[in-house]
Amino acid sequence: MANVKRIAVLTSGGDAAGMNAAIRAVVRTGLHKGWEIFGFRNGYAGLAGMKWCRLTPAAWGTSSSSAERCSERRATWISKIEPGRRIALDVLEHHQIEALVVIGGNGSQTGANALSLMGYPVVGISSTIDNDLYGADITIGVDTALDVALEAIDRLKTTASSHHRAFIVEVMGRDCGYLALMSGIAGGAEVTVIPEVPVDPEDIAVQIRAAYARGKAHAIIVVAEGANYNAAKLMEFFDKHQERLGFEVRATTLGHVQRGGSPGAFDRLLASRLGAAATDAIDRKEYGVMVGLQGKRNHGDTTCGCRFPTRKNWT
Ligand code: ATP
Repeated sequence: MANVKRIAVLTSGGDAAGMNAAIRAVVRTGLHKGWEIFGFRNGYAGLAGMKWCRLTPAAWGTSSSSAERCSERRATWISKIEPGRRIALDVLEHHQIEALVVIGGNGSQTGANALSLMGYPVVGISSTIDNDLYGADITIGVDTALDVALEAIDRLKTTASSHHRAFIVEVMGRDCGYLALMSGIAGGAEVTVIPEVPVDPEDIAVQIRAAYARGKAHAIIVVAEGANYNAAKLMEFFDKHQERLGFEVRATTLGHVQRGGSPGAFDRLLASRLGAAATDAIDRKEYGVMVGLQGKRNHGDTTCGCRFPTRKNWT
């Protein structure tokens, strides 16, 4: 292939704070290399609907982003089913797009891998608040989501103290406990429940009673949405046994407030670095890779390409 001239970028799956900064970096660094950059809206669905536009320094951001879960059926058909993927490749070829950047999480990168295995030049950028991407130590959006969870925990602690209550705080993360674990540690939770370690609610009750016995005015239980006992199931248990246990519990599910909003400095910088790393990978014609942060010194100092892992490592 001659030198690349036209590339496209799309975001897919759940939104994560910093995705737009990654688009921005792809656009900026791509333009700097002398390329034309296009954006497809609505994730993989946009490839079939030809919802696309040229991206300029003035046109990145949510207007050009496709971080929407709408058209999920169409998106799934395009990325998961072979005839759908063929249509996507036809559209890319029709527009003379020579490489595609996919910003997203586990599902999105699985779709990117599938297109790559069909011979199309694809580079992924690891972005999901779940932090469940193989090969990346921390993905775009995690840090901001963690800050949101911590702010909520801090606020709930004040309320919990004034009523001597225990509070369950459910955080996102699908089947990955990273967000819950980090929120629990940084938020000083009495108990943290993650999908990777099934719990017995009786054991949680023992911990909470012990906290009260130590003189604590409140107790915080951070729960991952994918845990064997999520907030709803724990509430069912605690409501049923309140009299026997001797303490009251309330629950707050943070849900989608963890996804949106302005990215923090860490996510903005990570997104900028990964966006630049993606266009550099295209420049080197290094396709079939996902760029992500590896290395745990401070904010990490290496952006590495890792091969799209085989499907068995993915959802
Ligand atoms: P997040 O981690 O934030 O949820 P994600 O990328 O994992 O992000 P999903 O909704 O799982 O979000 O997937 C996004 C898109 O990726 C889907 O709309 C679908 O088009 C595609 N996708 C999901 N799973 C697969 C798969 N197994 N094979 C091919 N494409 C997939």
